[in-house]
Amino acid sequence: MGDCLFCKIISGEIPSKKVYEDEHTFAFEDIDPKAPTHVLVVPKKHIRGLKEASAEDAEIVGRCHLVAAEIARQRGIEAGYRTVLNVGPGAGQSVFHLHVHLLGGRDLHWPPG
Ligand code: 5GP
Ligand code: ZN
Repeated sequence: MGDCLFCKIISGEIPSKKVYEDEHTFAFEDIDPKAPTHVLVVPKKHIRGLKEASAEDAEIVGRCHLVAAEIARQRGIEAGYRTVLNVGPGAGQSVFHLHVHLLGGRDLHWPPG
């Protein structure tokens, strides 16, 4: 936890472009955006990833998705956006603090790579 990049972003130790914050969640612009909107929504609680989340984390995992939906609403990208959790290195997870990617503002193809 002491060495977690996203915990340091939440605390402000590492700067980020903050999009939203409340008691439980923090959202910021991805440093290497893959779409015109690419925001990361994270729980303030350090959870390593979705597979490490437990039943007591159900509410915070849901809150992160609802924050993403609200940001999408505010940005006018509701015609089509995607929320993504990369789970494990094989799926591209590189930061081990649970985060919801909000991607939108362009056509999104299926299946993803
Ligand atoms: P993952 O690959 O774990 O699903 O997603 C991690 C995301 O964090 C990547 O999209 C990457 O661009 C982003 N990221 C990595 N380091 C930083 C950083 O220092 N600041 C910000 N804002 N985003 C970061
Ligand atoms: Zn963390």
